[in-house]
Amino acid sequence: MATLQEVGEQDGWRCWLCDESVDPERSVNDDRGPSVDSRTTTKKAKKSKSKEAVTPRLAHRTCNTGRGNTEAVVPWAPELFVIDPVPIIPAAERLAQKGGREIMCRCPAEDDAAAAAAWILDRLGRLEPTLELESEIQEGGGQYLVILMA
Ligand SMILES: [Zn+2]
Repeated sequence: MATLQEVGEQDGWRCWLCDESVDPERSVNDDRGPSVDSRTTTKKAKKSKSKEAVTPRLAHRTCNTGRGNTEAVVPWAPELFVIDPVPIIPAAERLAQKGGREIMCRCPAEDDAAAAAAWILDRLGRLEPTLELESEIQEGGGQYLVILMA
C-alpha cells in the first residue's frame, strides 16, 4: 500500500477530482487536507487477475470518493464555452478500456473547440496518466465537435 507521501508525489500534490492543489502540510483531519482515494479500474483488474485492482490517487479529504456514496465527478472548467459536455470519468474509462473515439462536447466556434480540446487533454493527462490520447476537432452543422482518440 502506497503511503500518502508517495501518492502525493505521484499526483504532484494536486487533487485528482477537483484538480486543485493539496497542501501536504495540512492536517489529514482538515477538510482540505490530503487523503488517499482509491479507485478501481477494470483494465487494471484484468492485468492483475484479481477481482479488483486499486489505483491510489491523491484527493482532498472532502473530495475523497471513499467518504460517501456519491460517484466521483470531474467537472468541466467553467470558463470553457461547451455544449453538451459528456461526463469526464466514464468517457475516460471507455477510452482506457476500449480505445476508439469519444465525442467530448460541441462548441459554437472553432476557437472554443480548440480551447476545450487543449483543456480536456491536459486534464486527462493527470486523471489517467497512462492513457495516450489525441484530439480532433470536426466541423458539422455549423458547430465544432471535440473528439478524443485513444
Ligand atoms: Zn479536491
